[in-house]
Amino acid sequence: MAKKVALLGSTGSIGRQSLEVIDALGYQVAALTAGRNVDLLERQIRKYHPPVVALADEAAAEMLRGRLSNLKEPPQVLYGRDAARNVVAECDADIVLNAIVGIAGLEATLTALAGGVDVALANKESLVAGGDLVLKEMAVTGANLLPVDSEHSAIFQCLQDVHSAKSLEKIILTASGGPFYGWNPEQLAGVGKAQALNHPNWSMGQKITIDSATLMNKGLELIEAMWLFGLPPERIEILVQRESIIHSMVQFSDHSVLAQLGMPDMRLPIQYALTWPRRLPGPAPALDFDTLSGLSFGRPDADTFRCLAACRRAAEKGGLAPCAANGANEEAVALFLREEISFLDIGRLVEGCVDSDSYAGGYALDDVVLCDAQARQYVREHL
Ligand code: NAD
Ligand code: MG
Repeated sequence: MAKKVALLGSTGSIGRQSLEVIDALGYQVAALTAGRNVDLLERQIRKYHPPVVALADEAAAEMLRGRLSNLKEPPQVLYGRDAARNVVAECDADIVLNAIVGIAGLEATLTALAGGVDVALANKESLVAGGDLVLKEMAVTGANLLPVDSEHSAIFQCLQDVHSAKSLEKIILTASGGPFYGWNPEQLAGVGKAQALNHPNWSMGQKITIDSATLMNKGLELIEAMWLFGLPPERIEILVQRESIIHSMVQFSDHSVLAQLGMPDMRLPIQYALTWPRRLPGPAPALDFDTLSGLSFGRPDADTFRCLAACRRAAEKGGLAPCAANGANEEAVALFLREEISFLDIGRLVEGCVDSDSYAGGYALDDVVLCDAQARQYVREHL
């Protein structure tokens, strides 16, 4: 059956690869959304003809409306902070693929799940910041969350046998180690934006590329895995797998370990999230063992990469601590990309923010929004 997909963040790295998968599968596009990239969104609209689209930026949306006026049936164009969420509420999709970057994706995830629509989730920040709210919506409507993040897709694939899944003992979350694996703080002090944006194995959006360099990405993924698979942080081990061929592993109570392997190509996990529970032929290339010289392993250095230590502490604290870690990181990464703070400042600020409060207790959406704003303010006040 050709599913109808609402694709949020369609102009980004995951968004563009998702459209390649949608093309290969012959699926339909129910909606497209982006932040402010009018040129690419316009080209996508002319190719996929979605009935409703959105841009976060109002001026960009006005420009888009003008450019689409010569279409016979132009799509409805929404804009503003709530636009992606409103698109999800209005469109007629079988599945929402959320590839927005940052906590900006949270409300769209919640809206889809509340409406009983499955979500293919690339937007890990929404689960990190508001995981409890996301799980509550899923429990009410029974909608599914299908992981797009390659590690979580790997774990999810390894847990498809429900009998084995019951005896899951631990998750072995793999990490590439990023461009600065093995570096010490003295070497990291001078790292600039261009160096940090140069990832060895993956080509991704700017924010997640910096997160991969600081190991914040692995910290966010640790918290993401806790919510998706219901394990406490001490049962999630992080292992450096330099070649990014083993995308993660699970260990069962009999100590059998299952791994999922593949080329570092996001089209595979994107496709599995869209076709689950089925597997179909897809555009990701096959793994070629003749050209693979070896698989190497190591441990992450959380003493040097403070974002990882901060996320583990936030995971142990629970409550809004992961939301604070995420908000502080979003602010710090934006400052680093504007070359206003150094590479090591990112970890210092995220850790300082996590340590500044207990963050204990339950929360509603308003609390998440407030905590995120306060974490960003903490960063600006501690430069
Ligand atoms: P990207 O920056 O390339 O794309 C982000 C998309 O979100 C763009 O379409 C942009 O227009 C849109 N956007 C940005 N700010 C917005 C806002 N305030 N409101 C609405 N839309 C907004 O990012 P990406 O690399 O594609 O990553 C997207 C998400 O997927 C992130 O959460 C990231 O952590 C996750 N992810 C990415 C990869 C990867 O390989 N790129 C892998 C795993 C997980
Ligand atoms: Mg990942």
